[in-house]
Amino acid sequence: MRFNEDAELDTSQVEDLRGSGGGIGGRVALGGGGLGVVGLLLFFLLNQFGGGGGTAPPGLSLDRLAPGQQADNSQLKEKCKSGADANRDQDCALVATINSIQGYWTDYFARSGRTYRQAPTNFFAGGVNTGGCGSASSAVGPFYCPADAKVYIDLSFFKDLRTRFKAEGGPFVEAYVLAHEYGHHVQNLLGTSSRVRHGETGPTSGSVRLELQADCYAGVWANHATRTPTASGKPLIAEVTKDDVNRALDAAARIGDDYIQKNLGSGRVNEGQFSHGSSAQRQKWFTTGLQTGEPTRCNTFDTNDLG
Ligand SMILES: [Zn+2]
Repeated sequence: MRFNEDAELDTSQVEDLRGSGGGIGGRVALGGGGLGVVGLLLFFLLNQFGGGGGTAPPGLSLDRLAPGQQADNSQLKEKCKSGADANRDQDCALVATINSIQGYWTDYFARSGRTYRQAPTNFFAGGVNTGGCGSASSAVGPFYCPADAKVYIDLSFFKDLRTRFKAEGGPFVEAYVLAHEYGHHVQNLLGTSSRVRHGETGPTSGSVRLELQADCYAGVWANHATRTPTASGKPLIAEVTKDDVNRALDAAARIGDDYIQKNLGSGRVNEGQFSHGSSAQRQKWFTTGLQTGEPTRCNTFDTNDLG
């Protein structure tokens, strides 16, 4: 994936919590682990244990989270001005990617007579106090919090993807992960999230359908990536290669429930515990979005054929 050198970046879509607050030491441990791109799962977890009121699930120690974390975007604003910056700096590439994803959905909502509300992504390190989903540690992976409509990510997850999950990685894999989380934001705006009962799992559960739809939405964005302009009309992403797509499919396979259970969990596949879909299903639905470029083709809730 390559960014258009002179496309301008909008750092206001990111809230950088990494340098602030001080005192966030090391990793906060959350039991279980191996959750991958968790998204809604975290939301359920927090709701189940905390009633949405900000109480931590057992095993998550809040005392190591600094209160009152403040976003400080001054560094991002300084270094991430253009697509050229995105081509040489990971932070800036993520800013550009978020701009592109939200640019696409803004346009799509407008075309269908709706209004897309922008959701910022919070970059955090170690742990974070969300504005509606309680506290979270990096161990849960990137997630979307419907209560405050924000995406949260500790960028060390991308290193985890390569080391623990053995994914090939790369900027387009990072884009896939973010586009998946923004898929959950779209579901929140469209009211789809309400079709899922909290805590349900299984191969045809609402949770799996919601996650596969978010993968499909990520593919839809990828289809439109090189045609999505910045506010001033310049295309933001110049090129998405076959290799980029293959890397995204590789990552999708490595965060499939069966792969995680087999390789990072008990070693046995237990479909009853599926929350995100199998590797093959995640690839299938990302591909469906990518090939059609059409969100209405992501109707995972009204099909008997999830793959
Ligand atoms: Zn998700």
